[in-house]
Amino acid sequence: MEFADLGLSPETLRAVTDAGYINPTPIQQQAIPVVLMGRDVLGVAQTGTGKTAAFVLPMIDILAGGRTKARMPRSLIIAPTRELAAQISDNFVKYGKHHPLSMALLIGGESFTDQEKALDRGVDVLIATPGRLLDLFERGRILLNDVKVLVIDEADRMLDMGFIPDVERIVSLLPKMRQTLFFSATMDKEIKKLADKFLMNPKEIAASAQATAAKTIEQGLVTVRTIDKREALRRILRAKEVHNAFIFCNRKKDVDILYKSLEKHGFNVVAMHGDMPQSKRNDMLAKFKSGEAELLVCSDVAARGLDISDVSHVVNFDVPVNAEDYVHRIGRTGRAGKTGHAYTLATPNDTRLLAAVEKLLKMPIPPLVVDNLNELIVAADSADVGGVVRGRGGKGRGRSERAPRSEEPAPAAEVVEQAAVSEAPVEYAAAEPAPVEQPVAYEAPQETAVQTDAQEHEPAAASDDGEQPESRGRGKRNRNQERFDRNRDVRGPEDRARKTRRNPHGIAEMEYGDNVIAFGGFTPAFLLVDPYGGKGAPPPPAEDMDPEVQAQDSRAS
Ligand code: AMP
Repeated sequence: MEFADLGLSPETLRAVTDAGYINPTPIQQQAIPVVLMGRDVLGVAQTGTGKTAAFVLPMIDILAGGRTKARMPRSLIIAPTRELAAQISDNFVKYGKHHPLSMALLIGGESFTDQEKALDRGVDVLIATPGRLLDLFERGRILLNDVKVLVIDEADRMLDMGFIPDVERIVSLLPKMRQTLFFSATMDKEIKKLADKFLMNPKEIAASAQATAAKTIEQGLVTVRTIDKREALRRILRAKEVHNAFIFCNRKKDVDILYKSLEKHGFNVVAMHGDMPQSKRNDMLAKFKSGEAELLVCSDVAARGLDISDVSHVVNFDVPVNAEDYVHRIGRTGRAGKTGHAYTLATPNDTRLLAAVEKLLKMPIPPLVVDNLNELIVAADSADVGGVVRGRGGKGRGRSERAPRSEEPAPAAEVVEQAAVSEAPVEYAAAEPAPVEQPVAYEAPQETAVQTDAQEHEPAAASDDGEQPESRGRGKRNRNQERFDRNRDVRGPEDRARKTRRNPHGIAEMEYGDNVIAFGGFTPAFLLVDPYGGKGAPPPPAEDMDPEVQAQDSRAS
């Protein structure tokens, strides 16, 4: 099939030719004619399938005829991350070059003034992250009742990031008569429920199997102790022909540490995570895209949507907490049929996370073969003990780097000697909390790892990337997180989504009607449990009773 068969205008076809595309991708073949017909679309498609052009190209033709009004955009595209939103806007510029359409990009971390000015001029297409869009709406800078086409991109990511309440609010502000295009990389029950809410009689389109890794990606797994991870990474980077690579960490804090460490070891590296100022994020990304930097250490904020061609490698410095993120991360390489390489560093503590990934892939990740790595490799079922016990790298301040309580600590002299070969202590000193909180991880390594990681995925008040700012008291957070997770089990999906709304102090707030008194989101257990099993309180012991009442009782019986 050719682009010319899809019903696009000559101007749009010219832009497609200018972009160098010869044939439409499967999602484009399916979606473009349906969108042009004005029908809703429910698309299951990952990035890398040509999904953006599948909605941008027909939208350009749909919008070509109309006129803009100040502060009343005619179409709206919502994306979970700033980078993805910016990328969609690049696509609009590329494909809309022969049309006089105006566009505004509303993302957090950029000046309100410029965005407000663009809105005042009137725009055909508004591309936004949910938080910033609502901010501008609440400031009265934007009216959404003229939106004729709505695109919700990466809906599953929005759900993961806790943005769904914002998205629901945005959709409630739009006219009911509109065309909605809803894209998600996965389509589980929760996403389907959302789609049912937002779409009317949609055409369902699937571009590829759900969450599968491209066949062009060579995958490899290596299991090392936590303390050896950075050394293992360096050896891999030196042994393999790494032209450029994304290196994913689960935590923002670890992105910073690893970035500094790699820089110190002479690698050409930049870093990116959701707590960085937007200008820095843009700068880092631009350096990586242009090839000025070879390595990008990042959190999952970069796992989706980023379209950088010719990335030779992806390294998971941590096994991702959500198995699906594995597929998104490694999808940064091996794009558009090219070969790519995706390596994962696991520790013996990661068995459960790894099992989830391999279940999703429906295959085990093969072992990675690197010549000089063997001495670091450990069995997946060995204990992930710290450097002092194993005789390496050992200040042992990191959460997983401390020896379990049952282990004998190394003699002081040995520890001092090991410190010389360890990673930059300053980095750890700056980033790690007080050691007293650390043993928690060893008492229940699997559980704790999962809970701690889950915290990193909680949405933050200040970031529209759904990342949680780092906390100083990790031990306390672990306990709080445990409580939260226990409570979460009894919540429905709506409640789970609601808890992500935070007040200006960063405290999670539940939304209830005026007639409800809320106890921080939960009815305390003591109010729910009847200690007397519905039979009423038993009489007090005879010696405690008022003699007069005692006499009455005996008369009554
Ligand atoms: P996306 O899935 O939208 O992130 O697109 C992934 C990449 O595929 C982008 O770099 C697009 O420029 C490119 N692309 C989109 N459509 C086509 C096409 N029909 N032929 C070749 N490349 C395409």
